[in-house]
Amino acid sequence: MPECIFCRIVAGSIPCTKLYEDAHVLSFLDIGPISPGHTLLVPKRHYGAIMEMPAGEVAALFKPVAALAAAVKTAVGAEGINVLQNNGPTAGQVVPHLHIHLIPRWPDDGLGFRWPAREADAAVLARQAEAIRVLLKV
Ligand code: 5GP
Ligand code: ZN
Repeated sequence: MPECIFCRIVAGSIPCTKLYEDAHVLSFLDIGPISPGHTLLVPKRHYGAIMEMPAGEVAALFKPVAALAAAVKTAVGAEGINVLQNNGPTAGQVVPHLHIHLIPRWPDDGLGFRWPAREADAAVLARQAEAIRVLLKV
């Protein structure tokens, strides 16, 4: 029996409110929704973070996102929808099995989404971009 809660859901040993399934992914309603229709999409194979996933598996994971977002948003009558994916506890990840959140939104729903922007220094941006480009393997 896997320890991971989402691996158990994928294996069928813990029930879920299933929305969609294919060979690579499973989507179900979040058990602790932060808004009505809060949906999760997970890869069937266990990965901790998106950086650990082969590109083909990332593509398979994201393939149903647009259709899911459209269906969820219309079904619950939302005005917007956040698609979020957290990697690591510092970034807000609690369940250590990679997952995508689809969070329907309404005006004045109290959830907010305002991160403070800072003014950028052009030289710092150039240094950061160079550091990223030398590491980037697509
Ligand atoms: P995280 O905070 O890791 O980005 O999100 C984990 C999400 O999984 C939370 O929104 C939480 O409510 C949801 N969750 C945790 N355990 C279960 C479960 O057993 N079933 C379902 N459907 N959702 C779960
Ligand atoms: Zn897992």
